[in-house]
Amino acid sequence: MENIFNYPKKDLEDYLVAKGYKKFLASQIFDWLYNKQEYDFNNYTNIKKETIDFLKATFSTAFITITKVEEDTDVKKFLFTLKDGQKIESVLMYHNYGLSVCVSSQVGCNMGCKFCESGRLKKVRDLETYEMLEQAIAISNYVKQKIDSVVIMGIGEPFDNFTNVMKFINLLNDPKVLAIGARHITVSTCGLVPKIKAFADMELQVNLALSLHSPTDEKRKQIMNVAKAYSLKEVFEALKYYQNKTKRRVTIEYIMLDKINDTKEDALALSKLLNGYNVYVNLIPYNETKNIAFKASSKKQIALFYDTLKKNGLDVTVRHKFGNKISAACGQLRSKEI
Ligand code: SAH
Repeated sequence: MENIFNYPKKDLEDYLVAKGYKKFLASQIFDWLYNKQEYDFNNYTNIKKETIDFLKATFSTAFITITKVEEDTDVKKFLFTLKDGQKIESVLMYHNYGLSVCVSSQVGCNMGCKFCESGRLKKVRDLETYEMLEQAIAISNYVKQKIDSVVIMGIGEPFDNFTNVMKFINLLNDPKVLAIGARHITVSTCGLVPKIKAFADMELQVNLALSLHSPTDEKRKQIMNVAKAYSLKEVFEALKYYQNKTKRRVTIEYIMLDKINDTKEDALALSKLLNGYNVYVNLIPYNETKNIAFKASSKKQIALFYDTLKKNGLDVTVRHKFGNKISAACGQLRSKEI
């Protein structure tokens, strides 16, 4: 039985029409699910009994459940338990521009970035669309506030779960579901070239972030397995392709690892590499975890790196560090739990 929250509106309409029902039934169902938040088909008073029986026999509405919440002043971290007992996490951040949720796209991750806690634990499975959507809905209900933006930057590689993530984006964006504008949705990839191109072909106004982490293939290969599959040349060709299609500015994520990728030489090479691209660089202070030996760059080193990029004409920000008191590193909450 498939979960009804897996269906974007158009997919549900197509499915229902193929089964001999009216397209309008999808609108009625969406109104119950997302507007009235009524999940028991028996209570769908404007729908015929036989149709309700069909819905009950065809779709499930099972939920993911909140297992644990860790709170700090500017952030809440949620541990969820899925139907099969797997655990994932999401983060709610209070920005001055509104509430932002960082969602997971997989249980674990196969990309094998050496500094990452989720990569260390490997992928168990992809998340279904509803499991991503419900992270956002459950958090919005928990805090009783509307979510303003969503970043797909939690556990997992979204482009390794492409179809479900695209359906999820469609639902986030739907005015009847979460009504989050495309420009308020960001998907972050470690650089799966064919999927960057496929994403570009969809011509969405959704933001793309690229986890770059090093300006040279040689160094990148040492910390990210994906660099063995795709060279920087290929990654940047894909970025160009994406930008020609969408005219969107791309975020370059750069994690600051002590003595690994944080020298002045790295900053100069990065400036050179990004020269001429419509990008901005987000420097990410590394969250150390006890299972991994990498150390965070010092504040001073981050400031030097930042200045070098600025002097070379790049737009740069240093990512705000949320919630120092809680397990802030991506995947740490889940990892502690299993
Ligand atoms: N797989 C996707 C999205 C999930 S990771 C990607 O690679 O972009 C989201 C971001 O968090 C990536 O930039 C990743 O490199 C970074 N990250 C992973 N572990 C981290 C840690 N311990 N501290 C800070 N950032 C981390």
